[in-house]
Amino acid sequence: MKDYYAILGVSRDADQEQIKKAYRRLARRYHPDMSGGDSESEARFKEISEAYEVLGNAEKRRRYDLFGEDGLAASPFDRGFEGFSSPFGDIFNLFFGGGQGRGRATSPRRGSDLLAVVEIDLEEAYSGVRREIEVPRHESCSLCGGSGVEKGYGHDLCPDCGGEGRFTRTRRSAFGAFTSTITCRRCGGTGEINTHPCTQCGGQGIREILDLVEVMIPAGVDDGDRIRVSGKGEAGQLGGPPGDLLVEVRTREHHAFTRHGRDLHAVVSVDMVEAALGAELEIPTLDGKERLQVPAGSQPGDVFKLRGKGMPEVHSRGRGDLYLSLEVRIPERLTAEQKRLLREFQRARADETGGVMGRLRKAVRQKV
Ligand SMILES: [Zn+2]
Ligand SMILES: [Zn+2]
Repeated sequence: MKDYYAILGVSRDADQEQIKKAYRRLARRYHPDMSGGDSESEARFKEISEAYEVLGNAEKRRRYDLFGEDGLAASPFDRGFEGFSSPFGDIFNLFFGGGQGRGRATSPRRGSDLLAVVEIDLEEAYSGVRREIEVPRHESCSLCGGSGVEKGYGHDLCPDCGGEGRFTRTRRSAFGAFTSTITCRRCGGTGEINTHPCTQCGGQGIREILDLVEVMIPAGVDDGDRIRVSGKGEAGQLGGPPGDLLVEVRTREHHAFTRHGRDLHAVVSVDMVEAALGAELEIPTLDGKERLQVPAGSQPGDVFKLRGKGMPEVHSRGRGDLYLSLEVRIPERLTAEQKRLLREFQRARADETGGVMGRLRKAVRQKV
């Protein structure tokens, strides 16, 4: 338990005037705007202020003497600002040349958006998929509705700044007086403090949760697309609405298909004999199988288009196409029988190729 008398360096039977004097002396020394704002002085100043809040008020001091700190937290009677004798007004007049006024509470603010990244397969992008994502986020406290104050209570006037939210500091020098404004550290400029923090959130107004959020990823979703899940972002402030969750979709590389917008591309492989004689192939697609008729005399790099067999478009009936480019395999090893047959085939073709010059002419003609 904190000994407020020791903190202020006064005896237990000190009168109000002695307590006030002790406080003023210490506050002058440790005030963040006087001490240069190192953390030790700041902590000390907070302690001093806390002690004076209690001992400087006859009723609070009496309860503290009787029950200790517990006597301070539980009483429903010391509401509002009347409990403070507001010594701060005069101390700040003394230091900074005061100014009185009510603090202004900041207005409700919408929570920020959160971004989650989800990796899916191309098959899932093709047909759409439902995902559950664990989202660590803050939620407005259900008990206090985000105010951070226990039910039935309100905020108190900040004793540091007297509700002003800021200090005006005047420095005098040979060149004249310089005035600067400093935001109150204790209340963060709101002019109010919370003396009855909510028991569920400890005055934060928010609590951290691990939320299981369901997100529907629509068919046709593309790499980098973002899906907005409304209200699943960070909690709002002071009763403001929560932000949204943005789910960014990344598509894993597929072993066979490459996506270009709504079209799909793949390489289909045939044997040189199949390319020469023609073949009917069965092509595995993202949702089944398709037949592809490779005509006789097909060349390496020939492209076949399967209309409407590409990716679907999000929220539309449109569909891309599937492009299949032909790769022709040349056998690397031949059996003796296969060699014999190919030589026979070569002899049969000899008169058609027209020797070395014919081959060369053809190559040059193709290049031009
Ligand atoms: Zn303040
Ligand atoms: Zn709460």
